[in-house]
Amino acid sequence: MQPMGSTGKKTSTGRPGETGAGLGGAVDEGPRAGLDPVAAAALVAADKRHVWHPFTPMRDWCADGHEPLLLVRGEGAWLWDQHGRRYLDGNASIWTNIHGHGHPHINAAIAAQLQRVSHVSFLGTTNEPAIRLAERLAGLFPDNTLTRVFFSDDGSTAIEAAVRMALQYHSQTGAPERRRLLVFERGYHGDTLGAASLGGIGAFRGPTAGFGYEVERVESMDQVRLLAPEVVAGLAAAVIEPLVQGPAGMRPWPAGMLRALSDWCRRQGVLLILDEVMTGFGRTGRMFACEHEGVVPDFIALAKGLTGGYLPLAATLTRESIFEAFLGDVAEMKTFYYGHSYCGNPLGCAAALANLEVFERERTLVGLSPKIEHMGRRLQRLGDHARVRETRQCGMIAAVEICRRKDPMEPWPWEAQMGARVCLAARRHGLLTRAIGNDIVLLPPLCVDIDQIDLAFDALERALGETS
Ligand SMILES: *Cc1c(COP(=O)(O)O)cnc(C)c1O
Repeated sequence: MQPMGSTGKKTSTGRPGETGAGLGGAVDEGPRAGLDPVAAAALVAADKRHVWHPFTPMRDWCADGHEPLLLVRGEGAWLWDQHGRRYLDGNASIWTNIHGHGHPHINAAIAAQLQRVSHVSFLGTTNEPAIRLAERLAGLFPDNTLTRVFFSDDGSTAIEAAVRMALQYHSQTGAPERRRLLVFERGYHGDTLGAASLGGIGAFRGPTAGFGYEVERVESMDQVRLLAPEVVAGLAAAVIEPLVQGPAGMRPWPAGMLRALSDWCRRQGVLLILDEVMTGFGRTGRMFACEHEGVVPDFIALAKGLTGGYLPLAATLTRESIFEAFLGDVAEMKTFYYGHSYCGNPLGCAAALANLEVFERERTLVGLSPKIEHMGRRLQRLGDHARVRETRQCGMIAAVEICRRKDPMEPWPWEAQMGARVCLAARRHGLLTRAIGNDIVLLPPLCVDIDQIDLAFDALERALGETS
């Protein structure tokens, strides 16, 4: 680790009006910014004894030689580890963080709600932050389109709610034969059984392969158009990540694809479920990805960035006409019997309201264009690198696909774990991010500044040089 001798230097939070430190290398601010070394070592040992981490090969994690990064503090786009070393949060804490860590407005909103009540049931009672948030979310879409908001906990449950609503809607409106879901190769919609069964990445389905919803899986809009009429007649809904498939390696759809799918769905009586769990809240340069192609779906699933990345909360929005199919005499059994203990959690809703307020106060979306353009320039430069197969970008979402050789093209075998190794090397230069196979993801909080974007790309370029 390279101490940069910046102890005491005021660091940028990456918020408007401040400039980044622009230093290459994980800045070591010493134990003052970290944990007592003995306490840190004890925590790491306890982690290795008791914790099971998601999407993590645990033998390697628990190995003696592996020292996990224990994050102790965050401010703006920066994070600090147990040793007081500072990193740029290059994947926005797994695609959740929007305005930076420790934002005073979001912190204050959570603290104020904490003084009132932390959690009350949403089954048969209601609360102010949830009501206000529902009103606010509905207001983000064109008038009288997505008017109803169903709260849950995370992306998987937001998708689950949408799919179950779609299936129940058809069974209550005279089309019970519409039971299958139209889904896409390489799509990803979460890890609960139902959500996983919609996914098109084999490795993520694991032992759930063969369980879950009945699906019709296609690759492209061309294949959608070729579906036999009897197959189409059995479709309840199409589920898609609009504009860009995230866990597939940030792969953009062809321009116009979303519009075409939406039109096709409308003509065929198939409901459209948009998974904006990753793309929502400004990531693509607009508030929601569907705005780029003028599409309003029948359902939209929101999660990750909903609370600015502070608390687990999700929302499924739908149309009034769909909601109305669930109204009736109790004995008619039209009620949506689905929910979770923490639906409408007041702390999460307060954080989400504050997140939306920050979008307005800081004019976050307006400020994105120069950042998106700068990322584009740096990606283009990286695209010429001998070990980079291609780069992809959709607004503030980017991926760099690495390879062993470009001409003739030779990919790294996934067992080589080169993506993970490059990310590890990049850490030494102050960038924290995570690869998906050979795709290195750059998805910083929207509050990053140009200097911080440069730091991320400088770190990645150096890391590539060191690992190939
Ligand atoms: C992360 C993600 C999900 C799942 O959300 P969780 O909160 O992890 O359950 C679903 N869809 C997309 C596109 C995602 O990126």
